[in-house]
Amino acid sequence: FSTAVAFEEPITPPVQIDYTQLLINGQFVDAASGKTFTTLDPRTGDVIAHVAEGEAEDVNRAVSAARKAFDEGPWPRMTPYERSRIMLRFADLLEKHNDEIAALETWDNGKPYEQAANTEVPMLTRLIRYYAGWADKIHGLTVPADGLHHVQILHEPIGVAGQIIPWNFPLLMYAWKVGPALACGNTVVLKTAEQTPLSALYVSKLFHEAGLPPGVLNVVSGFGPTAGAALASHMDVDKLAFTGSTDTGKIVLGLAAKSNLKPVTLELGGKSPFIVCEDADIDKAVELAHFALFFNQGQCCCAGSRTFVHERVYDEFLEKAKARALNRVVGDPFKKGVEQGPQIDSEQFEKILKYIRFGVESGATLESGGERFGSKGYYIQPTVFSNVQDDMLIAKDEIFGPVQTILKFKDLDEVVQRANNTRYGLAAGVFTQNIDTANTLMRALRAGSVWINCFDIFDAAIPFGGYKMSGQGREKGIYSLNNYLQVKAVVTPLKNP
Ligand code: ADP
Repeated sequence: FSTAVAFEEPITPPVQIDYTQLLINGQFVDAASGKTFTTLDPRTGDVIAHVAEGEAEDVNRAVSAARKAFDEGPWPRMTPYERSRIMLRFADLLEKHNDEIAALETWDNGKPYEQAANTEVPMLTRLIRYYAGWADKIHGLTVPADGLHHVQILHEPIGVAGQIIPWNFPLLMYAWKVGPALACGNTVVLKTAEQTPLSALYVSKLFHEAGLPPGVLNVVSGFGPTAGAALASHMDVDKLAFTGSTDTGKIVLGLAAKSNLKPVTLELGGKSPFIVCEDADIDKAVELAHFALFFNQGQCCCAGSRTFVHERVYDEFLEKAKARALNRVVGDPFKKGVEQGPQIDSEQFEKILKYIRFGVESGATLESGGERFGSKGYYIQPTVFSNVQDDMLIAKDEIFGPVQTILKFKDLDEVVQRANNTRYGLAAGVFTQNIDTANTLMRALRAGSVWINCFDIFDAAIPFGGYKMSGQGREKGIYSLNNYLQVKAVVTPLKNP
């Protein structure tokens, strides 16, 4: 099945690494312990940089800075228009440094440079502008109440927000978290993923150049059980937002509950169905199903990782899906035209290969791929399984890699029941040309996003989040603002009605 291409020396990334320390109170500083950890190049496993390793004491320092900036600093007190203008200046700097930021992201994460430069950094910029636009449009209500009372509802910032983000989309997760929190006037301590600490430090430096006051946004690199857990259980953090695995989501929710009951939003795992109906345009459906699964090396929480295909079009779909996977261009993510780079690290790499073995052992048919690609780094061949049954592990667990599992179905009732028969509920894809079928499926699927004849549409204004064990709450759009606002009811008596 090999798509073997001669393996060349890795391309030298067109960027240098300037920031590796913790960003606390507007300053780059070492960890209190002086410790560092390495961040690795997924193309080779080589060390890119030694990064300051934040732990509980550093989280304390960062939270104190954020607390002071919230309680005494200018950020929550300045006019929303001024906040908005700083965010807009930040967006302009992001645009100016688009390509360096993208190169840093590709180097640390392994995603194709073209994807980072043409889509992800521009989306970060777009999200910051979107939330800058909200800053001066957040306002409360006055409500009629029984009796002689004047009732005002104030929408206030919630305080110090702790935010923990994963490695698959470091910059988008940054934008989804930091954008709404800061637009509402909060201050932030952000804990980046240990695999990808670099891009958030770089862009946060730009944010300060744009005029962000010290202490408003603090960035702590470090590991989950130390830095992450310290943030989740901190008594002085007023709100926690987390994106990552469902298992870790349960841990941080527990830590928040055991400490100060801070409200928590969670964006967790998925096993999203992608449903190809018998009337679908098969060529388009094949391409979209391929994209839905293989995009970002398959490392998407909302990946369309159960491809359900109607029995009448199953054989044709399978042939074409297999051909498409065999044509997928894997290689150095800095190379033009490359669609798929390496997985993030050895842990994910081994986990994916293990699931591929489970697939073979459980009797699914391996149609393409199935092995590592090349001889170094964490590349995996685009892999397609057919004859997948619902009870196989590869159809139930989140693999988080380039492994497409294709399942056959007979009718709509059956596919709805099977698609919903999962502990997750993040997203779903529906491919049909029949409006009645689309309407039926759209309503019946228990998922936070339903994409009809499209997939992975991530406009800043569209809310995103999960049903069931895929999460709690919504991010992006207007829905994210509520996560970062307190509601205060103010009542005063009236002399006259
Ligand atoms: P993955 O398995 O994809 O790495 P995780 O959910 O473990 O996903 O990681 C997402 C984020 O959660 C990362 O920033 C990670 O450091 C952090 N994290 C991991 N474990 C914990 C924990 N026990 N407490 C708080 N944060 C954690």
